[in-house]
Amino acid sequence: MIISIASGKGGTGKTLIATSLALALQDKIPVQLLDCDVEEPDAHIFLKPSLNHQQMVSIPIPQLDEEKCTYCGKCAEVCAYSAIAVFPKHVLIFPELCHGCGACSYLCPEGAISEINKEIGILEIGQSKRIEFVHGRLTVGEAMAPPVIREVKKHINRERLAIIDVSPGTSCPVVEAVKGSDSCLLVTEPTPFGLNDLALAVDMLNKLDIPCGVVINRDGVGDSKVEEYCHQEGIPILLRIPLDIEIAQLYSRGITLVQGIPQWQEAFVKLYDDINQLVSTSRVLVKKRKPE
Ligand code: SF4
Ligand code: SF4
Repeated sequence: MIISIASGKGGTGKTLIATSLALALQDKIPVQLLDCDVEEPDAHIFLKPSLNHQQMVSIPIPQLDEEKCTYCGKCAEVCAYSAIAVFPKHVLIFPELCHGCGACSYLCPEGAISEINKEIGILEIGQSKRIEFVHGRLTVGEAMAPPVIREVKKHINRERLAIIDVSPGTSCPVVEAVKGSDSCLLVTEPTPFGLNDLALAVDMLNKLDIPCGVVINRDGVGDSKVEEYCHQEGIPILLRIPLDIEIAQLYSRGITLVQGIPQWQEAFVKLYDDINQLVSTSRVLVKKRKPE
């Protein structure tokens, strides 16, 4: 099973939830944690894995042979990302906009475009006690997170529970990280900002047909609007973590909930059981919607 841990809003504590869940389950079932927040991976701070494999992540970007080019403009026409501009006697390529789709080199009628690899990040694999650990790091200044995320997800181990730590928001890297998940936990806080971004994230998951549950962090601040929203949308609130100075202090020292306050272990095991229940219920509903 694949569970992704996401949050519409940044700073809600989703890495704390992802790492605590992995640690709480590691002695019960085989677990893997994949940190797909490649612009700012921080799950390693909590899990402290020993990393034993590193590989470069690159994308193929176009290289022009001006001798062969007739300036026909076909490459600029087919590039969906405006990464090529063709002038009467000049072609400009913008590598930072290129998604490495290969369309320009494939469709150039003169064979004037070849491809060269451009490094955009690295992938690291390791082990933290019984948890298999994988994360990606996007090179500073690079904008293309999805190829690094795809590379991390190639290492999903189907024999384990895969927990994916997703970047905040609802943009392309988030969609890339959550797609294919059996369920998604949305970590939020009970504030107007939390509610606004939670609603955007729920909308995204509905479009991807991924069942979700909510974790309310810093429960006790703000108002009851998040709760009302979840009730109205039929989204289960699976866990509440109170606003607590001890938890905040542990977090700031890179210590997870289950390591710092062992009583939380049970709550995270129950969270996993509830997610399983959520997945089974949604499978039944999908079956009912699509009768054979
Ligand atoms: S499609 Fe090929 S020939 Fe035409 S402008 Fe682009 S590189 Fe030049
Ligand atoms: S490889 Fe794709 S994204 Fe990059 S310049 Fe060519 S067409 Fe555009």
